[in-house]
This record gives sequence, C-alpha cells and structure tokens, in this order.
Amino acid sequence: MNLVIFGPPGAGKGTQSKFISKKFNLHQLSTGELLRNEIENKTELGSEISSIINAGELVSDNIVSNLIEKFISNKIYKDRLIFDGYPRNLNQAENLDYLLKKYKQKIDIVLKLSVSLDTIKSRISERQIQENREDDNEEIAIKRYKTYEKSTEPLLDYYNKSNLLKVVNGEASIDEINNEISEIIETI
Ligand code: AMP
Repeated sequence: MNLVIFGPPGAGKGTQSKFISKKFNLHQLSTGELLRNEIENKTELGSEISSIINAGELVSDNIVSNLIEKFISNKIYKDRLIFDGYPRNLNQAENLDYLLKKYKQKIDIVLKLSVSLDTIKSRISERQIQENREDDNEEIAIKRYKTYEKSTEPLLDYYNKSNLLKVVNGEASIDEINNEISEIIETI
C-alpha cells in the first residue's frame, strides 16, 4: 500500500512514519530529509534550496516532484511508499495522483495528524535541542506553521472528497498514536 501522512510541522509525521515503515515494511519517503541531505552534501541543488528551507517556505513543486518520481518509478518501492511531507499544496496533491497513475499505483490511506499550535511550539523547541535542525527555531517554526496553514491545510478538503482521509489525534502519546495508526492500516 501507499500512504500519505501530513500535518503541521512538529505533529510527529517523521516519528510515526518511521514506526509505520518498520512495522509494515514500507519505505519512508521524507521530502524534508531528502532536501536536507542535499544541503548537507553541498550539492548544487542544496545551495539553491537552503535559504528557502531556512526561511520556512516551500521549495518549488518541480524540484520536489523530480525527487519523488525517482522513488515512485523504482520497482523496489512499488506500492510500499509512505509520503512523509509530500504533498504540501494542491498542485503537489494533483501531481502525486498523476505520478502514481503513471506508474500504475494509487494512494490507499491519507493520515492527518492534528495538533495545536502550543503543542507544536513545545515539540519544536525540544527537537531543536535534540536534532539541531537549522529551521527549528521558534521564529521559523511559526513561519513554517503559517506556510502549512496557507498551503497544506486545504489538502484536508481534497482528500476528504476522495474518502481516503483518516484524522488522528496527534496530541496523544507516541504509543497511542502508533496504535491508532496500526489499527487504521490493518483494516485496509
Ligand atoms: P519537513 O522535514 O517535512 O518538515 O520539511 C522541511 C522543509 O523542507 C519544509 O519546511 C520545506 O521548506 C521543505 N519541504 C519538504 N517537503 C516539501 C514539499 N513537499 N514541497 C516543498 N517544500 C518541501
């Protein structure tokens, strides 16, 4: 199965994706991680995108589309991808449908992790200490949250129409969320 996981920054997408990928033998495709790798490896793309990421804005749809197509087109990952951080706007959602169709696949579940802005702020400051992500200071976190509200939150309607959407309470403990997500996946 292919799964999309979305939610505001700090909602726990990465943590939950890692858990699901292990438990169900799926591949976690985190566009944020792929982009951060480009920056770390000092590639041409990395230097192009670092200021955008560090400003809490979205990298261009084309760049991210090229990155994910490499995975969707690879037989190793056929029907076993977790899209963690993609799509982030309506254009990307339509593009994902298009790419999956092109490679004879589809989305089976869309998980939305719901959390309040207060929770996000405290999780992000914790993560800043643990992971030292450059885009995780409070000011940029708020910018990323605003980008999320403006561009990504409308996906809720898009996926609601397709009946794929499952909203999970992201305020619960990591284990509780793990269990809820497992149950959802197991009923598919
Ligand atoms: P994340 O690790 O998912 O929080 O992503 C970190 C940053 O990478 C985001 O704030 C964006 O700047 C960029 N990014 C990740 N995924 C996408 C995407 N699908 N489209 C555009 N930019 C993205």
